[in-house]
Amino acid sequence: MEKYVYSFKEADYRNKKLFGGKGASLIQMTQLGLRVPPGFIITTEACKKFYEPRRREISELEGILLKNPPPEVRDEVIKKLHAIIDSLDLPGEIWSQVVSYMRELEKETGKRFGDPENPLLVSVRSGAAVSMPGMMDTVLNLGLNDETVKGLAKQTGNEWFAYDAYRRFLQMFGKIVLSIDEKLFSTAWEEIKRKYGVKDDPDVQLEGLKEAVERFKEIIVRARGGFPQDPWEQLKLAIKAVFRSWMSPRAIFYRIIEKITPDIADCTAVNVVTMVFGNAGWDSGTGVVFSRDVATGENKLYGEFLPVAQGEDVVAGIRTPMDIEEFRKRFPHLYEELYQGVKLLEKVNKDVQDVEFTVERGKLYFLQTRNAKMTALARVKTAVDMAKEGIITKEEALLMVSPDHVLQLLYPRIDPKAKATLVAQGLPASPGAVSGQVVFHPDDAVRWAAQGKRVILARVETKPDDVHGFYAAVGVLTSRGGMTSHAAVVARAIGKPAVVGAESIEIHEEEKYLKVGTHVIREGDWITIDGHTGNVYIGVVPTIEAELIPELEELLRWADEIRRLGVRANADLPEDAAIARKFGAQGIGLLRIERMFRKPERLELLRRIILAESPEERRPHLEALYKMLKNDFKEVFKIMDGLPVVVRLIDPPLHEFLPKPEEILEQIYQRKMRGDDASELEKLYRRVKALQEANPMLGHRGVRVGVTHPDFYYYLNKAILEAAAELKKEGFNPVVEIMIPQVSDVREIIYVKEKAIIPALKDVEASTGVKLDVKIGTMIETVRACLTIDEIAKHVDFISFGTNDLTQAVFSFSRDDAENKFIPQYLDLKILDADPFETIDIKGVGKLVEYAAKTAKEVNPSIEVGVCGEHGGDPKSIYFFHNKVDYVSASPFRVPLARLSAAQAAIINRQNPHY
Ligand code: ADP
Ligand code: MG
Ligand code: MG
Repeated sequence: MEKYVYSFKEADYRNKKLFGGKGASLIQMTQLGLRVPPGFIITTEACKKFYEPRRREISELEGILLKNPPPEVRDEVIKKLHAIIDSLDLPGEIWSQVVSYMRELEKETGKRFGDPENPLLVSVRSGAAVSMPGMMDTVLNLGLNDETVKGLAKQTGNEWFAYDAYRRFLQMFGKIVLSIDEKLFSTAWEEIKRKYGVKDDPDVQLEGLKEAVERFKEIIVRARGGFPQDPWEQLKLAIKAVFRSWMSPRAIFYRIIEKITPDIADCTAVNVVTMVFGNAGWDSGTGVVFSRDVATGENKLYGEFLPVAQGEDVVAGIRTPMDIEEFRKRFPHLYEELYQGVKLLEKVNKDVQDVEFTVERGKLYFLQTRNAKMTALARVKTAVDMAKEGIITKEEALLMVSPDHVLQLLYPRIDPKAKATLVAQGLPASPGAVSGQVVFHPDDAVRWAAQGKRVILARVETKPDDVHGFYAAVGVLTSRGGMTSHAAVVARAIGKPAVVGAESIEIHEEEKYLKVGTHVIREGDWITIDGHTGNVYIGVVPTIEAELIPELEELLRWADEIRRLGVRANADLPEDAAIARKFGAQGIGLLRIERMFRKPERLELLRRIILAESPEERRPHLEALYKMLKNDFKEVFKIMDGLPVVVRLIDPPLHEFLPKPEEILEQIYQRKMRGDDASELEKLYRRVKALQEANPMLGHRGVRVGVTHPDFYYYLNKAILEAAAELKKEGFNPVVEIMIPQVSDVREIIYVKEKAIIPALKDVEASTGVKLDVKIGTMIETVRACLTIDEIAKHVDFISFGTNDLTQAVFSFSRDDAENKFIPQYLDLKILDADPFETIDIKGVGKLVEYAAKTAKEVNPSIEVGVCGEHGGDPKSIYFFHNKVDYVSASPFRVPLARLSAAQAAIINRQNPHY
């Protein structure tokens, strides 16, 4: 016969799959010698066995729920599901094992289940392989009935306590096992409290408790026809109810959100634990404690204790608990015992622990431990501290912190010390915390922003027409929509903090107010949103700016020791370069010259250059432009002194710098209306028309401009090289790499080198007398460049994969269209596993990158290979690149994340070379 039940003493705590996380922790604590009330575990295999007879139908219904159907469908499915589950019986072989373990428990405790003199009471607790806090059900005080309650009173000499336990049991059993609306109980309870004029539960006198017991029994009888007085019947029903809670809508929803698939956790175990009573008097109570401060990471116990209370009372917030410092003062010996236990658990589990405990008449019991959830700040600090204390290795610390934690620490965040009124939670669509005055229309956002106000745009959902409002606002809040909704996608794209789908908020766009709970917020009122947690607060909540906290700097230094992949930054302007260097970039992997044309006077020059009809006409403008650019280059090279800077020659389609033909026509029309001469404008119009392209992304751009206008490329190079030469003279050490974009044939490289880059180099060396040592390379972003890399690699010192354009080319997806129009659906339908513009498509684009990188190194062993697309800042992509290229280049704020990810890749790769 298969074994489905194990006692805490006999089981193996490492088998979380079989015993669930909670069960495993009870086993572990028991075997470590901590005081745990005796008990046993019914395994997750038993749960599967229970579901087995109707497994197929249940899976089908679960499958429908997993797709997140509309509420009507959902409720219908849930009803069917529960009807099926309720028709199931607990298999006899499981039940007989439960009975014999109950007998063991009776022997161990010296009490008897259902005994009117000395009753054994138990809790029946859920617990899956991974912690799903609050998602499943637990019943306490099971075994009470009209007889045993008297026994409990006699046994403890405390009638008040016995009836308090009984009324709690009836309420929990009614709600969880018998599925009776909890409100019926809580309303009755409130009425009783009102009747006796008391506020707090412990102040209700015995008379009131007895009345509650009677009323609760009536509620149960009315709803279900009777209340099972037989403890064995109660136990069987409770076990089934816990099994059923695995399929509760909230548990299913939680598994979707947290991506908990059956290979991670399949079904729940049931823990049957002897009750200990925190409600036995003022020398009793229940608490939760963390082994370190989960907000700040500080190494001191953090938690709460509530006297005369049981289980959920602490989290339910019905009375204000005392903090753990107060507990320490009142019960120094208990605190000491708790501290030792918690620290022991931290040491053996190698992570911060979240521990449930109960004190029964001065005696401490441990009821659960698990790895704590904590803020990013605490995660980083505790990982570093634990490594330094020798609890974990540096590698373990590096694996414990996720790239996301690092990101969170670099965006402005809510000051953890701030007192804030949390009113709603939506999806964390785009990180960063901001405060602003609420407006409800994009046009209002623009108007208010023009007056220098900081506004948060609140909409039910957003449309592409609203985008101007996004730019004007400091943050975006919507009540509808998911992580890939328009608002979320756009906010991320332009780097605006956003919370979307905060469904508890009613937004009235026309009337210009929003309602959440009892709060009404009107246009102009201040709110704060945190796009990393999805939290929405009323008022201005203080935020703190991004900086590398010392612990993160230390962790990243460890990462630097371990990783093999270099990390550079994409930075175009001196400000970006400074941030990149501060965050530990080992150079600039991509400097986009065109970003230097943002200033109006430069744009004007550039337009003249583009529109000029001959080299002679172009020359004076080029001269002027190169002098301006040279100074910018000098600034950036200075900031990056001693580190490589890859400067990409101008890349985008030229039309991007020109006015739109419609705009020129409009101007011509107006001039003519006034009777003015419009011939200049007409000439401009003809030139602009002539330069127009059907498909600019595939048009006259990148090296193609260099080939048709070598003089333009010549002057760009002159600016770069002269900047380097002058700095050298001043005693600096600029390390310059010149990158040619959009190459599809090696002869393009040969041509622009010969016509523009080498002449500029020679001229600069001659005029300054400085010998320059620059690398010349190319961006690899066309499919043909990948396929002909054997030729290309021979003519360059470095290559760098431009994975954005390469992805666009390999998929034939135009990025802007794809990301808004069909990729979200492709992801839903699982045609794509991830947005290929975010995470490298390993099967297609990755294959090309791998081939080209490998071939390039074979042909030219000293060649340097990098990646400069946005993938350079994506952890999953970094795991792929880490043993294929020399470095990745990421946006400055992602540099720390890339350093960590590269180290994680190296560690995992070392542990599992096939990874
Ligand atoms: P959850 O998974 O929701 O935390 P638990 O099974 O841990 O549910 O139990 C809910 C509460 O009841 C917890 O506070 C727990 O400590 C308490 N509890 C569970 N079993 C017992 C017991 N045998 N004696 C006293 N308190 C208990
Ligand atoms: Mg718990
Ligand atoms: Mg490109």
